[in-house]
Amino acid sequence: MDAVVIGAGHNGLIAAIRLAEAGLSVAVFDKVLWPGGMAGYHALGGAEVGVGAYAVGVMPREVLTRIGLDVEVEVPDPIAVYELDGQYVKWWRDPAKRVEEFKEWGLGDEIAAFWDKLISLNKAARRYFFGEPPTEEKLADDPEARELFGRTARDLMSQYLPREFWPMFLYEHLWDEPAYVLAYFNPPEGWGRPVWRGERGIQALAKALYWRALSLGVDVKLGVSVKRIVAERGVVKGVELDSGKIVEAKIVVSTASPVHTLLDLVEGVDDEVRRRLEGIPTAGPYRLNLVLTEPVKLRAGLAPYKDSIFQLPFGEMVIEGNVVSAVGDLDLHLLETYVENVGKARAFEVWTPADYQRVFNARGAYVNHLPLTREFLLCRPVCGWGHRTPIKGLYLGGAGTWPGGQINGAPGLNAAELALRDL
Ligand SMILES: Cc1cc2nc3c(=O)[nH]c(=O)nc-3n(C[C@H](O)[C@H](O)[C@H](O)COP(=O)(O)OP(=O)(O)OC[C@H]3O[C@@H](n4cnc5c(N)ncnc54)[C@H](O)[C@@H]3O)c2cc1C
Repeated sequence: MDAVVIGAGHNGLIAAIRLAEAGLSVAVFDKVLWPGGMAGYHALGGAEVGVGAYAVGVMPREVLTRIGLDVEVEVPDPIAVYELDGQYVKWWRDPAKRVEEFKEWGLGDEIAAFWDKLISLNKAARRYFFGEPPTEEKLADDPEARELFGRTARDLMSQYLPREFWPMFLYEHLWDEPAYVLAYFNPPEGWGRPVWRGERGIQALAKALYWRALSLGVDVKLGVSVKRIVAERGVVKGVELDSGKIVEAKIVVSTASPVHTLLDLVEGVDDEVRRRLEGIPTAGPYRLNLVLTEPVKLRAGLAPYKDSIFQLPFGEMVIEGNVVSAVGDLDLHLLETYVENVGKARAFEVWTPADYQRVFNARGAYVNHLPLTREFLLCRPVCGWGHRTPIKGLYLGGAGTWPGGQINGAPGLNAAELALRDL
C-alpha cells in the first residue's frame, strides 16, 4: 500500500478519498463495523440510527465538492428551537426573521449587530481552515483573527446578549474559551441533515463517503483494529493489525484520537507530549436512541418544528420518523414532557461516555478527540506539529487536529494534502 488510514470516520474517509484521487493505493482500517465513526450509524429496532453526531454545520461545503461528492445539507426552518422559561425561541433560517423573533424576546438592535459579528468572525476563522494552523505572527497581522484568539466567547457574548441567551450559541463549558470556538459553532449556513441520493440523515453522509472511497478503489476494512504503527529510525513503515499482520505503507494517516495514536500506537513519544495528552480530563456525552412503533408525537407546542434541533433544558433532541435521539442529562420522564408516545418504544439504547471511550478509543470520551480549549486549538494536538508528527510519514488528521472537531472534514483533507506535498 502507498498509504494506510487509521479510522473510517468522516475525516479518515475524506483523507483516503483525497489520497486515492491522487493515484495512491490506500487501505483504511476501523475497529467499528460501520463507516462514519462517531458520525456513523447502526441498526436498532429496524431503523438506522446515528451513534453520535446528528447534524452537520461546521463543515465548509467546499470540503465535499473538493472530493467530488454531491451531498446536500438540508437546513430546517427554524434551524433550532430553544426553550427559554417554558417558551420557545425559534432560530429561523432567514437572518432578518430571526432578528425579528429575538426582538420579541426583548432584544434590540444589538442582536442584529451580534449576528453580523458572528458571520464576520466565522468567515475570518474559515480563512485558516485549509492548511496548517496559523502562527501567532500570521494572526497578529489579521485584526479579525486576532479577535478570535484574543477575546473569550464570554467577553464577546456579554457585549451583545443577556446571559440567558448564551447557551443558544455555545455550550456553557466553552464560554471562557477563545471567541474562535463561538465563531466555529455558529456557521452562517446553519445546521442541518445531510441528504444523498434521496436519503436524509446523518447516515447519508457516512454512506456517501464510504461509496466514494470504494469507487476509487480504497480498500476499506471495517471491524479491523490497528495494534501499532510500525516505525524504524524515525520513519513510518506501516501498521500492525490486531491479527499480527503487518501492512506496509510509506504514509500512515491516523484519524483516531491523537491521544490514542500517540500514547497507545506509537513508541518513543516525547515525555512532554505524553504528559500533555495524559493530562486531559474525562468529559463526554450521554446519547439516547429510542425507536418507536409509530411516528413520534411531539407535545408542548413542538409539533410544528419536528425537523428542527430542539435545545431543551436537559440537552438536545432530534426526531427522524419513528426515532427520537437525545443528547444530554437524560431522563425518560423529562422526555415524556416533549414526546407523547415514549411508551410506544420498540427498541432503545443509551450510549455513555465510557462507551464512546471504549468503542472509538476516544480517551477521555472526547467527542472532538481533544478539548476545544485555548490549550488545544492552535496547538492541536501539539504546538508546532500541525498535521505532521516527528515520525516521517506519520500524519494526524482527525477531529483532534486543526481546525477543530465536529463534522468538519478539513482535518482529514489537510492531512492528506500535506502527505501528498511531502511525497
Ligand atoms: C453524542 C454525540 C453527538 C455529536 N453531535 C454532533 C453533531 O450533531 N454535529 C457534529 O458536527 N458533530 C457532532 N459530534 C462530534 C462528531 O461526531 C465528531 O467530532 C466527529 O465525528 C469526529 O470525526 P473523526 O473522523 O475525526 O473521528 P471519529 O469519527 O472518531 O473516527 C475515528 C475512527 O477511528 C477508529 N479507531 C480508533 N482507534 C483505532 C484503531 N486502533 N484501529 C482502527 N480504528 C481505530 C474509531 O473506531 C473511529 O471510527 C457528536 C459526537 C457525539 C459522540
